[in-house]
Amino acid sequence: MTLLNVNDLVVRYDTEEGPRHSVNGVSFTIEDGVNYALSGESASGKSTTAKAILGLLPDCAVIESGEIEFEGRDLRSMTAAERRDFLWEEIAFIPQTAIDALDPVMTVGAQIRQAIQTHRDVSDQHAQRRSRELFETVGLDPERIEEYPHRFSGGMRQRVVIAMALALDPKLIIADEPTTGLDVVVQDQIIDNILQIQEETDSSLLLITHDLSVIAEACDEMSVLYGGQVMEQGHVDNVLLNPSNPYTMGLKQAYPTQDDDSNELISMSGEPPMLDEAPTGCAFNSRCPFADEECETTQPQLEKLPYRNQRVACHHTERATRMRKQADDPST
Ligand code: ATP
Ligand code: MG
Repeated sequence: MTLLNVNDLVVRYDTEEGPRHSVNGVSFTIEDGVNYALSGESASGKSTTAKAILGLLPDCAVIESGEIEFEGRDLRSMTAAERRDFLWEEIAFIPQTAIDALDPVMTVGAQIRQAIQTHRDVSDQHAQRRSRELFETVGLDPERIEEYPHRFSGGMRQRVVIAMALALDPKLIIADEPTTGLDVVVQDQIIDNILQIQEETDSSLLLITHDLSVIAEACDEMSVLYGGQVMEQGHVDNVLLNPSNPYTMGLKQAYPTQDDDSNELISMSGEPPMLDEAPTGCAFNSRCPFADEECETTQPQLEKLPYRNQRVACHHTERATRMRKQADDPST
């Protein structure tokens, strides 16, 4: 069953410098039980896409077009407030700046109880018991639940936010860079914790991260965004092992690996595009070694590769793939 369907989403911010098109026709589908990753470098539109789904865009943002459906229900026809109420029950959101999400003058226990009781008509006793359970689930000591946020480390506070997000047994967990700013060991623990909970609760995951190793470990399917466009999407193994869009190839190469002696195919020089106009061509064209006139004028559509479950938006998929294979294995 399809849990979330985003189709041809276009989001614009109206800024003092003029309009900025941050999401330019993003489409993807998350099936029940699938862990989905949204990746791509900074400013590619990942958080904007998540906020559009959740009805959390700021006032200066406009959804120009596209469809967003959760279990077949059209979210765009709801007001932002209706959508938040509806989704609160279904989707848990762990925001990019989760650490700021806690109230410094309330104990963390009181904040988790409040998350439960705002949406469920349950006794104080029940909320108390449930909040202690959640605290344990995220690996925190329930004896410390009546302490204030400043008594906890960054990683522990992030766990508190995860506990709050899980209070209502969501069907989908959207986690936007849930480990930003935490040290590497804690990052691993938090990701493991999210995965463990998500497995226990049988929910799906939309994980926003630029960390390809986390994606390889945690996710089944992925979309790679650039300049608000989906460059490539499909099964994680296909996209990461056989990238067929020059941008994905570059992203992989820019990503440090332990045994990286492969020939450099794409260098990721240059800056992401300024999106004051809705782009007419491929968002990556100014940085892409394969770009020609068509790439400047015509936005490539996502097209399924004939031989595997993978979709690529590029006018030069075949040539780029051939060159990547040669670079990977010069004997071919
Ligand atoms: P990161 O990896 O840095 O979190 P991202 O992929 O999540 O990046 P977004 O936060 O979605 O990127 O931003 C996409 C583009 O939209 C960027 O160019 C950003 O500057 C712009 N943008 C985001 N929020 C606003 C806003 N409130 N007003 C104006 N422009 C915005
Ligand atoms: Mg972001």
